[in-house]
Amino acid sequence: MAAYETQTHDYDVVVVGAGGAGLRATLGMAEQGLRTACVTKVFPTRSHTVAAQGGIAASLANMGPDNWQWHMYDTVKGSDWLGDTDAMEYLAREAPKAVYELEHYGVPFSRTEDGKIYQRPFGGHTTEFGEGPPVQRTCAAADRTGHAILHTLYGQSLKNNAEFFIEYFALDLMITDGRCTGVVCWKLDDGTIHVFNAKMVVLATGGYGRAYFSATSAHTCTGDGGGMVARAGLPLQDMEFVQFHPTGIYGSGCLITEGARGEGGYLTNSEGERFMERYAPTYKDLASRDVVSRCMTLEIREGRGVGEHKDHIFLNLMHLPPETLAERLPGISESARIFAGVDVTRAPIPVIPTVHYNMGGIPTNYWGEVLAPTEDDPDRVFPGLMAVGEAGCASVHGANRLGSNSLIDLVVFGRAAAIRAGQVVDRAGAVPATNKAELDRALDRFDGLRHANGTVRTAELRDQMQRTMQADAAVFRTDKTLAEGCRKMEAIAAKLDDLKVTDRGLIWNTDLMETLELTNLMPNALATIVAAEARKESRGAHAHEDYPERDDANWRKHSLAWVEGNKVKLAYRPVHLEPLTRVEEGGIDLQKIAPKKRVY
Ligand SMILES: Cc1cc2nc3c(=O)[nH]c(=O)nc-3n(C[C@H](O)[C@H](O)[C@H](O)COP(=O)(O)OP(=O)(O)OC[C@H]3O[C@@H](n4cnc5c(N)ncnc54)[C@H](O)[C@@H]3O)c2cc1C
Repeated sequence: MAAYETQTHDYDVVVVGAGGAGLRATLGMAEQGLRTACVTKVFPTRSHTVAAQGGIAASLANMGPDNWQWHMYDTVKGSDWLGDTDAMEYLAREAPKAVYELEHYGVPFSRTEDGKIYQRPFGGHTTEFGEGPPVQRTCAAADRTGHAILHTLYGQSLKNNAEFFIEYFALDLMITDGRCTGVVCWKLDDGTIHVFNAKMVVLATGGYGRAYFSATSAHTCTGDGGGMVARAGLPLQDMEFVQFHPTGIYGSGCLITEGARGEGGYLTNSEGERFMERYAPTYKDLASRDVVSRCMTLEIREGRGVGEHKDHIFLNLMHLPPETLAERLPGISESARIFAGVDVTRAPIPVIPTVHYNMGGIPTNYWGEVLAPTEDDPDRVFPGLMAVGEAGCASVHGANRLGSNSLIDLVVFGRAAAIRAGQVVDRAGAVPATNKAELDRALDRFDGLRHANGTVRTAELRDQMQRTMQADAAVFRTDKTLAEGCRKMEAIAAKLDDLKVTDRGLIWNTDLMETLELTNLMPNALATIVAAEARKESRGAHAHEDYPERDDANWRKHSLAWVEGNKVKLAYRPVHLEPLTRVEEGGIDLQKIAPKKRVY
């Protein structure tokens, strides 16, 4: 094995990732005086969170009546009854506190006339436990909410003496006697290897949208945390649930926020019909995302798509007052001009359902602690390891996430992880020593890929994976497409052993970096399609044409997927049905959130 120049760093906590989740965790840890490092492969404010436009959900009731129970009900229904009740209660209850904290940290929210945080309507967010009109619950900083949050949290983290290691690529976790004791990283600009020993490692590496051909997510969303966890022999949860956002710009995949429909935009087909009125008479264009994406796909299939190939749909904003567009949606007016050549005041935007969010991820409890379930103990905590943000699965989004519920997930659970770490990290204790065997294992893998001299180029294999996932694990799925997809993906994953990397350098070697990312995307993609093939029902984002109904008797359970090489082993764990607080103590009435048919 080639010798690598290695430097060692000791910390109480190492956070991998500097998106909203990673930065909120980092800030919370540092505020408590824990020695905290944040390692990130891109500059913090370039993390995908920067692209979040629409906003962050919390029942502040600034624009009309609202409360955490209504928010919780909407989240439960949005999840199609697959979310964990305790985690969803925690999210809805803590959301207002987490948003006011952001406000005090300095996030420049848009304001109402009387100076309160401005809130807009978003899909699936309602009043009166789904019986009342849509609620204005989504707090926004124009259509640049993620941008505002990231910049604020980064500044605050620096102020609290968190230490940043920027453009360091985390390769693998170090596991010592059933506990995570650190992470091995490659410094991209000088090729050195850095070992971070820590009492707690927090994975905040974001989603794996790039397992698909067309996605709204950044090219950096490659599921690195999921890859590291899979290689450590731990499972991934609920991977079959992938959200397609209704309004990606046709062609580029660039996102047009749901806030556009929240502000009054609507979809039309080739006949100029507002077809959502037919499918979701109450909430229309503001039905939940999985529902709107399916309706659009049906319209296109039935020959009512727009454009030359009748293969997309129009989003209309022409009727909105120019002031609304300028004040509330300036960014999307610009995106539509650049990516679709459309002036939104004069013409509709061509849109199509596009991969947007991964409900599944690394299983955790609502403190962000990673779970290593066994048959006897489905809630067993794996010590020394946490996961937050899109990389994790707490699970609050279940089978389908509501718009603006991710940003709130980032800050609520980033904050929760910090609170928990403050309790479980032994400040006086010694930082674990470097596990030499684990370091060598990580470096062997790295070195092997660096010198990979097979026959398939990384870009070629990635393209095969992305096209297969796009075709066979799509908005609608059948036994046939899924079985074919599993077969194809197994063969594609096997070719990881036959990769060819042409650049052997260690400094800014993008070929090697993309190869490492591909080895992370692949286990995420495999788990997704295998878990989808196994789930014989339709729930949330998993729309199975051979089993069109939800089947609570057999399938109201979380899937767990252990990936080894190109094989996936599945098991299931029960959904948490117990709330955190009983109704007598001010908790939610469980009758209100009992399963029923999901209509909007
Ligand atoms: C276009 C778009 C718009 C959205 N709009 C909204 C919205 O309005 N409201 C809402 O609630 N949600 C929205 N979402 C979803 C939400 O923005 C994301 O789910 C969320 O930002 C993910 O945050 P994160 O902190 O988990 O990860 P990210 O922001 O993706 O950050 C991941 C971090 O991990 C680091 N990282 C990854 N791998 C490694 C590695 N191997 N080594 C070192 N570092 C690594 C990266 O450098 C980065 O800092 C949107 C998503 C997209 C794509």
